[in-house]
Amino acid sequence: MVENPGTLPVTRNQNALSEAQLAEILTNPGFGAHFTDHMVLINWDEGQGWHDARIVPTAPLPLHPSAAVLHYAQEIFEGLKAYRWDDGSIHLFRPELNAARFNRSAQRLGMPELPESLFLDSIHELLALDGRWVPGNANEENLYIRPFMVANENLIGVRPSKSYLFCVLLTPAGAYYNAPMTLWLTPNFTRAAVGGTGKAKCGGNYAASLIAADEAAEHGCGQVLWLDGAERRWLEECGTMNIMFVTSDGELLTPESPNILEGVTRDSILQLAEDHHLRAVARPIDVDELKQRLEDGTITECFACGTAAVITPIIGFKAPEWELAVGNGEVGPKTAELREALLGIQYGRREDARGWTRPA
Ligand SMILES: *Cc1c(COP(=O)(O)O)cnc(C)c1O
Repeated sequence: MVENPGTLPVTRNQNALSEAQLAEILTNPGFGAHFTDHMVLINWDEGQGWHDARIVPTAPLPLHPSAAVLHYAQEIFEGLKAYRWDDGSIHLFRPELNAARFNRSAQRLGMPELPESLFLDSIHELLALDGRWVPGNANEENLYIRPFMVANENLIGVRPSKSYLFCVLLTPAGAYYNAPMTLWLTPNFTRAAVGGTGKAKCGGNYAASLIAADEAAEHGCGQVLWLDGAERRWLEECGTMNIMFVTSDGELLTPESPNILEGVTRDSILQLAEDHHLRAVARPIDVDELKQRLEDGTITECFACGTAAVITPIIGFKAPEWELAVGNGEVGPKTAELREALLGIQYGRREDARGWTRPA
């Protein structure tokens, strides 16, 4: 049965979960463990452009084993969330930034750009159908939205694919405790180099970073603090999150680099800084400065930020030759304030002075 509530034709999932089954999942959804009843699919083919935008039951994708993505990792993705407000309504947070970044990633990976309106409409229409999957907000639960694009031409030769598939998945996310963590400065790996794909949100960056995360864990650290690939001197980011420091002279300081992923959370928190009597500063920061300012106490707080975990307090740094705590090793007041401010806007509990939220 095909219906047409919006611009994307819908094939309804005849095996959609019952309300009772869904309620059970939503009491403890975990993260990325359950997927909603429907997904978006849109195809792109050379000579034809984007076509056959549709909403269909969530199911495995038919991919030929020679599909280009399986061999050469031509893949990009995005991550954003749908938030349920106290009045039951569902909202998105600055989704147009994800749409724009998706296209910057597409460009870097030699993939076709998706019109931003199609990116956004497809999410809105999928949420209109599967909105019942957005959990309540008592513990900052949400529905995580994962748009992605893969090269699906049957192709063993190396060149950009001539066909692509865009897909949007939705997965409910439960209450999440951001355990404060120490970051590992790996002597062995880098994440990105100038001219590489560090600025693009592509699966390949993640594939290349996984063993470094294992190394961090072996040293009792929660994540890696990535340094630049050329000098291994300049701070970049954490690989799924950007990093920020609060200084004793009232700065909210974050690294600037051509290789970091420009987070929506990073941008939002930099803008919120002034509301919290902090001056936002983005500039290159090197390891020597980090060490010195951890030692002399002029870095008072540190946190990592990204859509998935929001704000994760960083309480220390560890390298093969040294280990330093941030402040007294506890979660700082500005870190807590900024987290509350951002979540307050996202969940409609605080005034959205900058007009960042959008009804889903
Ligand atoms: C997605 C991502 C971030 C955080 O970006 P947000 O838009 O804030 O979620 C940071 N670093 C990397 C490598 C990422 O992929």
